[in-house]
Amino acid sequence: MKKKPAFLTLSGRTILEWVNPVADEQLELAADELNRLVLTRFTGRKEPDQTVDVVFEVKADAKGFSVKAAENMLKFTAPTALEIIYAVYDFAEEYLGYTFFEPGVDTLETFGGKIQLKTTGYLIKKRVPDLKVRGFVQEFPFSEDNYVIGDWMVKNKLNYVETWMKYYDHIDQDMIDFYRVRGITIESGHHNFSYLIPAEKYAAEHPEFFAERNGARIKPSSSKTPNALMLSEQLCTTNPALREELVKNLIEYGKKHPEVTNVGLIPNDGFGWCECEECSKFYDKNRKGELYSLAEHVYLAGEIYHDLIMYVCRRLKEEGCTLNVTLCAYINYCYPTENMYLEKGMTVEMANYWRCINHKIDDPDCPVNSRYAKDIEAWTKVKRGGNVVIYEYFMGVNFYISLPMVHTDKIFDEVAFYKKTGVDGIITQFHLPHWSVYGINYYTMANAMYGKKRPAVLKKLWQALFNDDAAEGKRFYAKLDKLVHSAGKCHIPYPYSLFSRTELKDYKAMKRCAEKLCAKLPRDEFRKDLVLWMEYLVRFKTFFDDYNAGKAGIKELKAFQKWAQNKCSKRPVLRMGSFNSYTNKMIQQLEEGKKWVHFGLDWEDAYVIKHHNGILSKDA
Ligand SMILES: [Zn+2]
Ligand SMILES: [Zn+2]
Repeated sequence: MKKKPAFLTLSGRTILEWVNPVADEQLELAADELNRLVLTRFTGRKEPDQTVDVVFEVKADAKGFSVKAAENMLKFTAPTALEIIYAVYDFAEEYLGYTFFEPGVDTLETFGGKIQLKTTGYLIKKRVPDLKVRGFVQEFPFSEDNYVIGDWMVKNKLNYVETWMKYYDHIDQDMIDFYRVRGITIESGHHNFSYLIPAEKYAAEHPEFFAERNGARIKPSSSKTPNALMLSEQLCTTNPALREELVKNLIEYGKKHPEVTNVGLIPNDGFGWCECEECSKFYDKNRKGELYSLAEHVYLAGEIYHDLIMYVCRRLKEEGCTLNVTLCAYINYCYPTENMYLEKGMTVEMANYWRCINHKIDDPDCPVNSRYAKDIEAWTKVKRGGNVVIYEYFMGVNFYISLPMVHTDKIFDEVAFYKKTGVDGIITQFHLPHWSVYGINYYTMANAMYGKKRPAVLKKLWQALFNDDAAEGKRFYAKLDKLVHSAGKCHIPYPYSLFSRTELKDYKAMKRCAEKLCAKLPRDEFRKDLVLWMEYLVRFKTFFDDYNAGKAGIKELKAFQKWAQNKCSKRPVLRMGSFNSYTNKMIQQLEEGKKWVHFGLDWEDAYVIKHHNGILSKDA
């Protein structure tokens, strides 16, 4: 006689009993969350009478996290308490019908019913991450939103935030605790030369700490400058007293913030390296940067930056300071120079700035990405116990203005490339106010980094977003991706690259697709957001075409701004601050009688034009 297979049944009658409750903040979170998720799943249950024992087993030598069911038992095993939390959330996604796509919302497929779990073999087996550093770059101040963000991060097994020191100044103890319990390391750093050597404190007494340009010391901007992007003001990094001041200030910073383990030592954004006699010894003025990293117009600063980094890291060690130090690889300092090594405690964040989104990062056919891939490989070769982390731009690469980027497929191959190459992690810039546009990239990135398989992840995503219309939702994104690829083999997603090479009719077709999806479930907010987003793109593209045909100008641009303010500011489709800053800069250019190409920076516009005539040209 055949034996009936054994199942553990979870139903509306289930109550969880904790076999081994321990006073550990992370295991308590795991227990609370499992209880909450089971309770919510079987909401409306009456007279619970079925007891299921839950065992959390932290075993240092366990390989990854696992979940097993027995007749009346659920057993979670992992090497750390944090991974027990991960096991709970993955169990909820894979067996209870949840999807943790939207921050602050646990999307649940079905309520009630019952679930039968097999009691032979694993439900989740020895799950380990493909990349150990998984996270976000936070380019905005801490606020209540961070509770939602931290919650989303742990549900999706992200463990790292890189943020500006000036933002870390305003984090409070509750939030520090909230992130700690969720196993998320906060790196305080980002572009921070001006934070560590603030002009207010040093400029008057030590003008020699700041870069010399065109024969004179610069007058540095205040470290409180709100928008310090592309500031292009550096320090005189060879000055011995300045170097020691950096060391001293980092040590003091570590003492003031004992919970901080990782700090950045990263130049101010942009260029503007010192040209004094000592610093000039580090440059060969005939050796400029290259097109792929937007550094053709400046000489290379890798040698001088890396010399500073190696000095500061060595001195910190000598002083007994245990802070981990992050440097960045970016624009004109993209790859390791001679004698540059990533020792233990050092991390390079490699910024794939203005990468092409129509090719994968390691595609040899892409003149931009293949160069970044080469730099990334070079960094992994100089690891001596340190880390290589990729700094990504899955928020549309340029400017947070919600131009389409569907990276849900390529990310899986990119993670495989990174893993094979010896890269330790990926962090990406992001914002909450555009989650309906780029959330798909964040969700798939998080899953891809933890060894989940592409078909399963994507199937779950389309199912959670579109329910019965999952196939149509999937087609919507495929079509949108096709539109983006119709721009050309390569595409760097600033407006000029996209709008100069695509057709208005295709955006209108996308809008009709979104409307069709929306008509099938009109109360669904996400579908409404897609309609709004497509309308935004139609309007942006229309303005681009009309402007270039001499038929639209300031008046039409202001009308577009007004429309966006009215429609988009209430929904997560557009980060209004970035949109307003970008379009105000457009208006300013038009008022000055300048041709609008991009953000009005001459050197940047020159790259846009150069791309247009070269790698992004029709016949490229
Ligand atoms: Zn100098
Ligand atoms: Zn390309």
